[in-house]
Amino acid sequence: MCGILGIVDGEDVVRQLYAGLMTLQHRGQDAAGIMAYDGRFNLKKGNGLVRDVFNAKNLARLRGPTGLGHVRYPTVGGGGADDAQPFYVNAPFGISLIHNGNLTNYSALKDELYRRDFRHLDSTCDAEVILNVLADELSREQLRHFSPQSAFRAVRRVSVRIEGAYSVLAIVGSKGMLAFRDPLGIKPAIFGRNEDGWAFASESVALDVLGYEVQRDVRPGEAIFVDPEGSFHSEQLFPPRPRHCIFEWVYFARPDSVIDGLSVYETRLRLGQELANVCREQGISADVVIPVPDTARAAALSLAAALGVTFREGLIKNRYIGRTFIMPGDRLRRASVRHKLNPIKSEIAGKRVLLVDDSIVRGNTSREIVSMVREAGAKEVYFGSYSPALRYPCVYGIDMSTRGEFIARDKSTDQIEQMIGADRLIYQTIRGLESGVAGGEERLGTFCMACFDGHYPTEISKKVFATIEQERNLAHTRLASAPDGEEQDF
Ligand code: SF4
Repeated sequence: MCGILGIVDGEDVVRQLYAGLMTLQHRGQDAAGIMAYDGRFNLKKGNGLVRDVFNAKNLARLRGPTGLGHVRYPTVGGGGADDAQPFYVNAPFGISLIHNGNLTNYSALKDELYRRDFRHLDSTCDAEVILNVLADELSREQLRHFSPQSAFRAVRRVSVRIEGAYSVLAIVGSKGMLAFRDPLGIKPAIFGRNEDGWAFASESVALDVLGYEVQRDVRPGEAIFVDPEGSFHSEQLFPPRPRHCIFEWVYFARPDSVIDGLSVYETRLRLGQELANVCREQGISADVVIPVPDTARAAALSLAAALGVTFREGLIKNRYIGRTFIMPGDRLRRASVRHKLNPIKSEIAGKRVLLVDDSIVRGNTSREIVSMVREAGAKEVYFGSYSPALRYPCVYGIDMSTRGEFIARDKSTDQIEQMIGADRLIYQTIRGLESGVAGGEERLGTFCMACFDGHYPTEISKKVFATIEQERNLAHTRLASAPDGEEQDF
């Protein structure tokens, strides 16, 4: 998961890009970058949060009426400053590119680019591969007579070569901005306009904050081109076969965003109601419902209302910690959760507490929270996850965990219940997840739910699987051994 933002405006866009990236910071805290184009490409990128990478001095150096911004969550490659986006190639026209997603044929393509097209790549980031494939395909066009159609033909050929999930934004030198999304629309992309220009972003919240009126999502399989005068061109290159990442609604996206026509907040409310149905079926009777902050709040609220149980904020999060440091050893890991969350004893003591969280990955955090709530005097502790058991790795850009680390990979609900120390563990059903997010019959079947049900919407060979897991494991090792190594809190 990453955050992408692209703006074509009459005026300098750098301040807008900075503000927009701050809004998309939740989509990646690992690295940030801005490329502004004013006839020259002006780039600043580096590891860290947006506020750490940029300052008044380096922002003043960036200028241009067209620009790209990116926040990175590490996927393939894992995390050096060389892997931060945007990337740039000088021909044709000079192209800069950012993307959100993950190419499942990354290694094969990198090899092909070197052997067949004699292109050297400097990073281990798949955005650089997409950039070079795009540059290669664009250079096969009649560039003296460049038009948006030249870009669309090139993107059509790019989409045949690259596999996986990709939402891409690119500046094609003085020609304009190009946006395209894979035919399954796995990763989100939306655009809006104001009087002066156009903006493309991962989430509608960035458009809201910057004052662009949302137009619509970039359709799966669609390419869009906006020239510097603001003329808009689009072409549906492939029939859309939507398989949107359902985890966007469960966890990633901000609740004030609308993704592919579905309000994130409303879907979370529905997921709470679906989980309430499971609680009823399993005879769960609680005195108080408490969300694990912050993502689970909406679902916990609607679950409590549906069950007629009191909703309380019983766990308070230190919002300035943000990420869970990798701490070796149980004692330190335990301390890290406790530095981040603290219980309000008066809301917990003597009660049957139903905790609600978005998901359970490795189970360590859930175990710590259950024990913390027990120590705060809870009579019984039930744990509800408003998404089903996570069992399969994501190959489309979400580095939740390698398969071996999922607690639910080879364990029953009873075993997990025991491991996290809960009196009862209640998982959302796959059906409840889908209907909760879909909110109606017509959207059923339009989501990727592979990390829950193992049905990947693209073909993934065993070899590709093994390579991706190997790369992930390496990235985890690198991160864990780095002196300032941090782990995305999931
Ligand atoms: S596997 Fe899971 S996280 Fe990955 S794209 Fe599909 S739903 Fe999203």
